[in-house]
Amino acid sequence: MRAGAGGAAGAAARELDAARGRVREAGGEALLARLEHLDAARVAPAPRTGLGRAPRPPDRGAAADYDVVIAGGGLSLLLAPMLAAAGLRVAVLDRARIGAAHREWNAGTAEVEALSASGIFAQGEVERLVVARYVEGLCRWHGGGTYPVRGVLDHAIDAGGLLAAARARAEALGVTLLDGHALLGHAEGPDAVALAVAEARVGAAPRDLSARLLVDARGAASPYATADLVCPTVGGVLAGLAEGDGERRIRPDVGEILATTEDVEEGRQHLWEAFPGRPGETTVYLFYYARSGDVGPGALLSLYARFFRLLSRYKEGDARLVRPTFGFIPGWSRLSAAPRAPGRRVRLVGDAAARHSPLTFCGFGANVRELAATAADLARAARDPGAPSAARDAPVHSGTGALAALMARPAGGARAGEMNALLNTAFAVLHAMGDDAYAALLRDEMQPGDFVKFLRETAARRPEVYREVVSALPLRALGRWGAGLARELYRAR
Ligand SMILES: Cc1cc2nc3c(=O)[nH]c(=O)nc-3n(C[C@H](O)[C@H](O)[C@H](O)COP(=O)(O)OP(=O)(O)OC[C@H]3O[C@@H](n4cnc5c(N)ncnc54)[C@H](O)[C@@H]3O)c2cc1C
Repeated sequence: MRAGAGGAAGAAARELDAARGRVREAGGEALLARLEHLDAARVAPAPRTGLGRAPRPPDRGAAADYDVVIAGGGLSLLLAPMLAAAGLRVAVLDRARIGAAHREWNAGTAEVEALSASGIFAQGEVERLVVARYVEGLCRWHGGGTYPVRGVLDHAIDAGGLLAAARARAEALGVTLLDGHALLGHAEGPDAVALAVAEARVGAAPRDLSARLLVDARGAASPYATADLVCPTVGGVLAGLAEGDGERRIRPDVGEILATTEDVEEGRQHLWEAFPGRPGETTVYLFYYARSGDVGPGALLSLYARFFRLLSRYKEGDARLVRPTFGFIPGWSRLSAAPRAPGRRVRLVGDAAARHSPLTFCGFGANVRELAATAADLARAARDPGAPSAARDAPVHSGTGALAALMARPAGGARAGEMNALLNTAFAVLHAMGDDAYAALLRDEMQPGDFVKFLRETAARRPEVYREVVSALPLRALGRWGAGLARELYRAR
């Protein structure tokens, strides 16, 4: 018995080692270190105060080095050239290289249009960054049906090219770029905020900067990224998948938005997605929804082990990992307190703020659609930190968060098939409601009235949903859900 357990543990350790080796082989030592850093951060989150090293707060009347410092040069790098174009002195810092995307992004027409309108890119540049377009997308449930949808997530974007172009534009507009600089802590004074920054270079001394406004764009790594849900995601760009018709083949003109290949295992409902990109390449992800507190250290590496073990169950072919991409995407259910900035001179953006859909976790899409509004908001706050934020929350999020919370704690054992059955019913209803409603939900645009209709129809077809929701959500969360929906319905009248 003990030998058997030891054997199982040994096999699991070997599988993790193999996964580590495959990420290293495809992405290099630095990318593996990034994965391990993200995984380790789940064990010791930065203190709530964010003060890994506290600088002295600037005195009253102190002049700031910059109007805005953006800490985190991932997707939020897009804000830098927009703020610089508005006449602000801007710096961006990142613990790694600024604008080095470790993501692949799929998006819809609204996002492509928002990028084109941002003023960051040259004429026709955004079109060139679209590496594939799909005639439709689909969601498919294990033991259930396949539900096609049009007009959503139907573009694959060259994420590396997009951020490289934003970086070049930022540089051209005089933005200071501090690659390899981590934000350790900050302290707010009456007229500026002091930042303690450490350079990754060996022997480099920590130094302090100051800004009128700190934009926390550290994503899931921000100490203020307190959203209650999280979506651990692994995968990357694969070559060699079999193309053609049939569930286990890739069609270059179809995006697979959500798909399951088994019921709940290890307490999780795992989901796949597959987005064809450049000819012969497809981005494939494996992910699950979880409550933040349920995801411990090593989550990404063990998800990678599962990814390599079960990929062939999802898609046929001689798959080769070309570029690994991974991360934790925070999600806020709207059933608990929102992530909040610690002061007047700090604003949270992107994943740290987690204002995107808690159901689709499409942070790229949501942030890009709000790009102009966010940049205007930040420019106002840099000049007047007391200015209220004009950030909007899509009404549908007050409804979808409860569904995401439900998915984050699915029933196992004899009820392990219930999640797929529920998803199958819900997507059958969406499909029957028509493409406009179905796509609107995935684009965060569904109106509260339609959302309630969708819930009613789903419950009519699957009455067990009442028990499932009540057993998964504490009473208080149920109350917040009902109140949030009622508020949005009232507003929409
Ligand atoms: C694998 C994966 C695939 C995704 N695919 C899609 C998709 O197809 N469509 C979609 O809509 N969304 C997608 N998303 C979500 C989307 O990528 C995020 O919502 C978006 O990148 C968030 O942008 P951000 O600027 O907040 O954070 P990020 O883009 O995560 O950038 C955070 C940056 O902060 C830096 N950082 C961390 N700590 C510090 C520190 N202390 N000091 C300085 N810098 C620091 C990091 O190095 C990083 O560069 C995906 C996410 C993942 C993980």
